[in-house]
Amino acid sequence: MKCSLCGREAVFYQAFTNKYLCRECFIEDVRKRIANEVKDKRMFSERDNLLLAISGGKDSFVLLDAVSHFHPSSKIIALSIVEGIPGYNRQEYIERIKKYTKERGIDTVITSIKEFVGYSLGEIVEKSREMGIELSPCTYCGSLRRRIINVYARELGADRTLTAHNLDDEVQTVFMNILRGDPERLLRQHPLSPKLSDKLVQRVKPLRKIYEYEAAFYAYLLGFKFQETECPYIIYQPTLRARIRHWLYMLEREAPGVELRILEFFDNLLLDRTNKLKELNSLPTCRICGEPTSIGRDVCKLCEMLEKAGIEPKYNYPKHMGKWRAKGEG
Ligand SMILES: [Zn+2]
Ligand SMILES: [Zn+2]
Repeated sequence: MKCSLCGREAVFYQAFTNKYLCRECFIEDVRKRIANEVKDKRMFSERDNLLLAISGGKDSFVLLDAVSHFHPSSKIIALSIVEGIPGYNRQEYIERIKKYTKERGIDTVITSIKEFVGYSLGEIVEKSREMGIELSPCTYCGSLRRRIINVYARELGADRTLTAHNLDDEVQTVFMNILRGDPERLLRQHPLSPKLSDKLVQRVKPLRKIYEYEAAFYAYLLGFKFQETECPYIIYQPTLRARIRHWLYMLEREAPGVELRILEFFDNLLLDRTNKLKELNSLPTCRICGEPTSIGRDVCKLCEMLEKAGIEPKYNYPKHMGKWRAKGEG
């Protein structure tokens, strides 16, 4: 089969456009769509300092590579967080992250859940079980990762944090928020929703219009070796998201492009409503840690979860690491 754009040998069938693409046209297409979405949703400009959350999974390497093609490397820092999950050795992936970032002239900061809160994720899960709490490890992990990313971004003086959520992740989350009956979360998921606290660094998702199968193929073509071992805690993952994923997969097979249309539909439908979020003004502050929390709470979810697990919520903030801060404020 020949490439629908240039006539070279095709390596990829893009079902939602019904096009065959060669290696070069495929890579170009993905990079262009990422850059366009960044521009279209005003995610960041050339002047902004960016913190990229790099997990070591395929999507995070696609994010790293694509963004490094249109943003100056001196204005990018990669952050990787070691969870500390027993039997899920990540040392070789840390080495790979360091290699891939170095090749692109990007600085890397490696930290861990243990460094931040004094306990690894494995230890937190163990303590919570001793206390008879049946929260999924993914709940602790997600909450801690979000907090660490925001704190590091703020301390480094970053203007934006970038995460590697792809189209499939985003559409699943849309339906999760609908099925939970949570319009506020649905609105806050919108790419143009305002940030609700000075202590939050705006989080953006440049891969939100890239299918997971495209990200996987891009990572494969560029020769990235990514974390393929499944997290051992996957068995505790809430089943709702897995069911939605399966359902969307079936729909996408029947009607290629359906996920893209769903996301664009919500982007347009909710555009005017994101302004309503501004009326919420500023989020309240947690009386334990001083970080922003959700409307109607006086202790944040993270402090509450740790306390229930018998862990004193005390956080080790990074010190003297403001590579950009010094420049920006000096
Ligand atoms: Zn081509
Ligand atoms: Zn707190």
